[in-house]
Amino acid sequence: MKLLTGGCLCGEIRYEISADPGPSRVCWCRDCQRIASNGTVNVLFPSNAIRITGTPSGHDKKADSGNLVTRRFCATCGSHLFSDSTGRPGLTVVRIGTLDDPSAIKPSTNIWVASAPHWACVDQSLERFDGPPAAAAPAKT
Ligand SMILES: [Zn+2]
Ligand SMILES: [Zn+2]
Repeated sequence: MKLLTGGCLCGEIRYEISADPGPSRVCWCRDCQRIASNGTVNVLFPSNAIRITGTPSGHDKKADSGNLVTRRFCATCGSHLFSDSTGRPGLTVVRIGTLDDPSAIKPSTNIWVASAPHWACVDQSLERFDGPPAAAAPAKT
């Protein structure tokens, strides 16, 4: 296990993660497209393994699943960094593009592909779900 570090565009929010990564997915749900203008690329970590400096702002939205999703972002530069869901307590999504080394983690799966735009670059070599991942795991990230 190696220490992962990252932060927002302006540097106000920084974080360190000391845990092995969980599942990593590209999410094409419409909520993700609105915040990222594309799919979001995400990895799950135990929430208590993420040490954050600075104070992200948050926005709550009820997902189609009925879960309440709280997305956290830098209030100064707008970068989205984290997402939590009542559907997966104790686990936090980290946006892979905010890692100092975004190549450190490679997504294995595309989810919610049915709502991707027709021009989306969806890696056909990865596992794919038109909706949420098949496991009982949480849906939208
Ligand atoms: Zn920032
Ligand atoms: Zn999504």
